Amino acid sequence: MALLVCKFGGSSVADINKIRRIADKLIAMKAQGHRIVTVVSAMGDTTDDLLELTREIGRGHDLRELDMLLATGEQQSASLLAMSLQAAGCPALSLTGWQAGILTDNVYSKARINDIDPIRIEQELDQGKIVVVAGFQGIAPNGDITTLGRGGSDTSAVALAAGMKAKHCLIFTDVDGVYTADPRIEPRASKLRQICYEEMLEFASVGAAVLQPRAAELAMNYRVEVEILSSFTEKPGTIITEVAKMDKVRTVSGVAHDLNVAKIAIFDVPDQPGIASKVFRALADNAINVDMIVQSQMKGDRNDIAFTIERQELSRALPLVETVVADIGAAGMAYGDDVAKISIVGAGMQSKPGVAADMFAVLAENGINIQMISTSEIKTSCIIEEAQTQKAVQALHQCFDLENES
Ligand code: ADP
Ligand code: ASP
Ligand code: MG
Repeated sequence: MALLVCKFGGSSVADINKIRRIADKLIAMKAQGHRIVTVVSAMGDTTDDLLELTREIGRGHDLRELDMLLATGEQQSASLLAMSLQAAGCPALSLTGWQAGILTDNVYSKARINDIDPIRIEQELDQGKIVVVAGFQGIAPNGDITTLGRGGSDTSAVALAAGMKAKHCLIFTDVDGVYTADPRIEPRASKLRQICYEEMLEFASVGAAVLQPRAAELAMNYRVEVEILSSFTEKPGTIITEVAKMDKVRTVSGVAHDLNVAKIAIFDVPDQPGIASKVFRALADNAINVDMIVQSQMKGDRNDIAFTIERQELSRALPLVETVVADIGAAGMAYGDDVAKISIVGAGMQSKPGVAADMFAVLAENGINIQMISTSEIKTSCIIEEAQTQKAVQALHQCFDLENES
């Protein structure tokens, strides 16, 4: 019997009726002869509601306690789904991340999965049960509960699929696949029938929130065949697979936007070895990820350095950068969180010159100023003013003729 790992996102388990529908879907899959492990997210906006409670408490708590709290959201939905399965006559049980053997590092709130120990899951599957695993959580080497970052249930599912050598990993969500742009801001976006691992990883990393980037990375590294599909319809979804198995390799497969961006610039930095390392070491030591970095040659022996970080990290980053600015003798700094990152992604881009130039031209024609640029082999990203995000997505979508993709 083939093992299937499924995952249902927050909107798919938002209330008891929806949970019952998921239970029926899982029972039908089991009836087709599959062994089923399913991961669930917290119901609806539960994680946001829990975070709001902590804001009422104010600053001063540590991330360990935050993980203790946030992990409870997924435990609720996991047990409610197991109860619904039982009520429908199907043997089932729910497991927390640590009961399921999801072993992580000790970085609270952004833990990475180091290993999977599926012994308990295997035992329960052998007894004919559907095993429901609380997503987004694991256990650190010291026995503490950790969480995997926002959207982390995707990663729980792909990691279980990789660790248990599942035939497929099915990510059920509120859209019926990966689209050429976020359908919420580009209604003309079309569904991609296939996307290769490399594109999905880039697409997710630059803001296509339909899959957590770490899940895309694990799928690529372990060659897990993932399908993203709707919880509410029976339509086929988008298959994430090897580039060699793609029917066609597109130059541009999609446009993504990311509003979770803030920009910091440091002015008049001495042009000496070791300066950049001082700036970025301070951030790295505090687990603040830096995304784009631009260093511009200015007058004589002084540069400007500008970089982007996640918007919610801005208040933690500013005092660290202020200290470094004083330490290295820079003239000053500026920051802003009214920016967005807009990106085009496509596996065929690497063999076709001029794609980035086309992107810049479209932004210029639409009066959109580019503040920063970064590229990889299969992606070009620009930082623009946040207010122009939708206009930029729609203009790029049209320019690269993505309306009729599939
Ligand atoms: P879940 O709770 O099921 O994990 P998410 O909200 O995390 O669902 O992800 C699904 C959402 O991702 C969609 O509702 C959609 O708005 C957004 N999204 C962003 N970019 C894309 C894209 N390129 N294709 C499909 N969905 C996208
Ligand atoms: N509940 C968590 C979140 O809202 C994890 C997830 O949904 O994947 O980010
Ligand atoms: Mg998600």
